[in-house]
Amino acid sequence: MKDTVMHPEPATVVDHQSKRMLELIGLRKSFGANQVLKGVDLSMNQGEVVSIIGASGSGKSTLLRCINWLETPDKGSTIMVDGRQVGHDDPARASRRDLARRRTEIGMVFQHFNLFPNMTAIENVMEAPLAHGRGTKPEIRALAEELLARVGLSERMTHHPSQLSGGQQQRVAIARALAMKPKLMLFDEVTSALDPELVDEVLKVMKGLAEDGMTMLFVTHEMAFAEDVSDRIIFMADGAILEEGPPSEVLRKPRHDRTRSFLSRAM
Ligand code: ADP
Ligand code: MG
Repeated sequence: MKDTVMHPEPATVVDHQSKRMLELIGLRKSFGANQVLKGVDLSMNQGEVVSIIGASGSGKSTLLRCINWLETPDKGSTIMVDGRQVGHDDPARASRRDLARRRTEIGMVFQHFNLFPNMTAIENVMEAPLAHGRGTKPEIRALAEELLARVGLSERMTHHPSQLSGGQQQRVAIARALAMKPKLMLFDEVTSALDPELVDEVLKVMKGLAEDGMTMLFVTHEMAFAEDVSDRIIFMADGAILEEGPPSEVLRKPRHDRTRSFLSRAM
């Protein structure tokens, strides 16, 4: 069974130029008269780690949700994952099956863990690959055990979510997203709802993924973490990218007043 998650290429041979994993071209999204995304262009190569920062209401969550079509982008927006369009705004070209397939290539973890409360940790991780026929039950169980070990939960596999701390639940949610072997992982403020003492155990798992070459796009308020793991930081304001670049520039030498004023409150 091919397992890109557990046996990634060593970081030294990951060629960031090799493959375009995500491409957003002119991404717009309106809710009624409220245009929340005003034409976002963003490209990510395989293995790149990008964080999005910005004030509440600037459109960060909507951006992530449009990537896997949890929100339908406005007509004319292009979203490509690994060279293929995720969905079509033209109903004649839209295929539910294609969209479902593309979605399995995109792992997403939310602020609230959204685990199935009636299932154990390992059952939560096994659910999607079982539903998609990604192997025999023993194969999928072995994969889930590996993933739970990877997020440090070997001792908690048969616990239900209610028996786990918030940090443990969030790590199960990460393992569950990885179980579909996604090409791209999206994280939306995954530590914001956690007690402070539980934040680091989740960030540590995310850092490990980044080091293993996973392509990751995340929204975070954890500026030190963003600086530590990101190849690139994006500052969003009013539904657009105002500034982007390496952490050393965006966080340390911001070019825009709005970035400066946001950082003075956030860092
Ligand atoms: P952020 O994640 O940066 O805080 P969001 O993407 O959640 O920002 O929200 C951006 C704007 O879009 C806000 O003004 C919010 O009220 C609006 N918005 C988000 N989701 C919806 C929705 N489902 N319906 C209507 N308005 C929404
Ligand atoms: Mg948000």
